[in-house]
Amino acid sequence: MADYNAPLKDMKLTLNHVARMPELAQKPGFEDASADMVDAILEEASRVARDVVSPTNWEGDQQGVQLKDGGVVCPESFKEVYQQYAEGGWGSLQFDPEYGGQGLPFLLSIPVMEMWHSANMAWGLCPMLSQGAVECLDLNGSDELKAKYLPKLVSGEWCGTMNLTESNAGSDLSVVRTKAEPEGDHYRISGEKIFITWGDHEMSENIIHLVLARLPDAPPGVRGISLFLVPKYLVNEDGSLGERNTAKPLSLEHKLGIHASATCVMGFDNAIGYLVGEPNRGLACMFTMMNNARLSVGLQGVSISERAYQQALEYAFERIQGPAVGTKEAGPIIRHADVRRMLLTMKTLTEAGRAIAYDACGSLDFATKADSDEAKAREQTRAALLTPIVKGWCTEVAQEVTSLGVQVHGGMGYVEETGAAQHYRDARILPIYEGTNGIQALDLVGRKTLMDKGAALAVLIEEMRGAVASADPSLTAQAKQLEEAVNGLEKARELLLSGAETDAVLPGAIAYNFMMLAGYVCGGWELLRQASAAVELAAQGDDDPYLQAKQESARFYMAHLLPRWKGFADMLNDGSQSIMALPEEQFASAWQ
Ligand SMILES: Cc1cc2nc3c(=O)[nH]c(=O)nc-3n(C[C@H](O)[C@H](O)[C@H](O)COP(=O)(O)OP(=O)(O)OC[C@H]3O[C@@H](n4cnc5c(N)ncnc54)[C@H](O)[C@@H]3O)c2cc1C
Repeated sequence: MADYNAPLKDMKLTLNHVARMPELAQKPGFEDASADMVDAILEEASRVARDVVSPTNWEGDQQGVQLKDGGVVCPESFKEVYQQYAEGGWGSLQFDPEYGGQGLPFLLSIPVMEMWHSANMAWGLCPMLSQGAVECLDLNGSDELKAKYLPKLVSGEWCGTMNLTESNAGSDLSVVRTKAEPEGDHYRISGEKIFITWGDHEMSENIIHLVLARLPDAPPGVRGISLFLVPKYLVNEDGSLGERNTAKPLSLEHKLGIHASATCVMGFDNAIGYLVGEPNRGLACMFTMMNNARLSVGLQGVSISERAYQQALEYAFERIQGPAVGTKEAGPIIRHADVRRMLLTMKTLTEAGRAIAYDACGSLDFATKADSDEAKAREQTRAALLTPIVKGWCTEVAQEVTSLGVQVHGGMGYVEETGAAQHYRDARILPIYEGTNGIQALDLVGRKTLMDKGAALAVLIEEMRGAVASADPSLTAQAKQLEEAVNGLEKARELLLSGAETDAVLPGAIAYNFMMLAGYVCGGWELLRQASAAVELAAQGDDDPYLQAKQESARFYMAHLLPRWKGFADMLNDGSQSIMALPEEQFASAWQ
């Protein structure tokens, strides 16, 4: 099984030349994020990911999780990995020093998080959800709740979870049924949640569940949902742990992938909970966590793609088969053009996804540190527009990349022992959780494009044109290919805006294709920016072959992957003519 080595060169180029890290480090409060500090953090994280986390990936998949005596038992090695993670301060990089955080940019936590997910995605979900819980509590909790719970969540002594889904309430959370009854200074929570990631485990001494529930007089629908903090162990006034609360795992799901991540049915039996934020504003509060989590899930797509690529690349150099064109002797399969096609597809989709994801996360930091309302709104809008593309596109391409990973291995990819199959199985959850990709696509066309009459997308398109105009002359051919695709995206934007005025069905009917079109064009834009930076660095005397490889990545992507935009654009004229728009009775005949 191949080792995992973090792609530090690509991470650094992306941070510095796409996501604007050097500019961010000039902002007041981010002075510690100097180039040396960033390098040191990435180097150390890559060591931990390679030597500590990654060796647990295969073994965790084989062992899985069990429910014993009312508690989840996870693979033995996970507890030790988690301890090293918490003691290393890895969960506190981006958080407020007031609660024990290190006050570094959120952006810096992104490559670090990418490494954990590449090393072991099932385990990485635990820190990922804890980080979302910290952010949600920090933004929405009362001072009292923050003082009591944040320091231990930030330090990693406690973990967090997200309890939204119920058997009847998945994509549609408006029908959540879990109840919250007021009792003195707290509430009593009763109900059942399903699919709760790491709903229970022994890696940390306490687990802080964030739970959506309804107050007795709550109005129906999304306006009647509140958010509650429900600890596994109650916390005494002095911060010590008290009695076991009645929030418990009832059973575990048996899944296609991420076998080592506990996916729990959670029972809340009159459990003690505390209101987070205003009554009936729970979904808005939870959205702060979900936005973070959506970017993180997109990043998981990048992580698992990277891992699958590294594994396939190693195998392609080892596996000996028949001679390639121009040679007489058997040799490694990397010599075959079709194997290179697969590997380059895997590599460039991963690099493109990484760049879009880091870029979106950087915008969140620029929004936090903006010196005017206008700058803040601009960066927030940019991040919000890119979020469904990061979640949707990066996780869709992860399906292709991990599948190609199996294909490069031939029959050995289909059997479990190489580990290629595990990446493919693990990746399959990504388009489903944190809002299915169908929901992401609707978000992109609805809230992110139609709602502002396409303004944010128009700004992004202008940014792309800026990258085309400033591309190095050696990249003229790639810039032209991108220019054509950007024009296609602009036409799609116009079609969506004008079509939606007369055809209510059109946005939903074209949403997925619109999202994929936007993703491929964004990928081309980011790779052109990276290739331009690589040309510039090489011209300054940096002779690292990685810089040449980056230019090759851009060339390959523009020639072999970017043209897919046309196919998605051609599918945008379907609207109410579409089979998707037929009344239900007529639609039924489509299947006969
Ligand atoms: C392994 C795993 C871990 C999870 N972890 C968590 C967790 O930690 N916390 C948590 O709360 N939840 C968690 N979930 C739940 C997850 O977020 C939901 O499964 C997801 O939101 C989809 O909901 P659903 O399964 O009910 O599917 P449904 O909502 O029933 O969707 C089924 C299909 O219909 C489509 N669809 C539904 N509504 C619409 C619509 N309005 N427009 C267009 N298409 C639509 C969907 O895109 C999908 O293709 C997890 C799930 C899994 C499998």
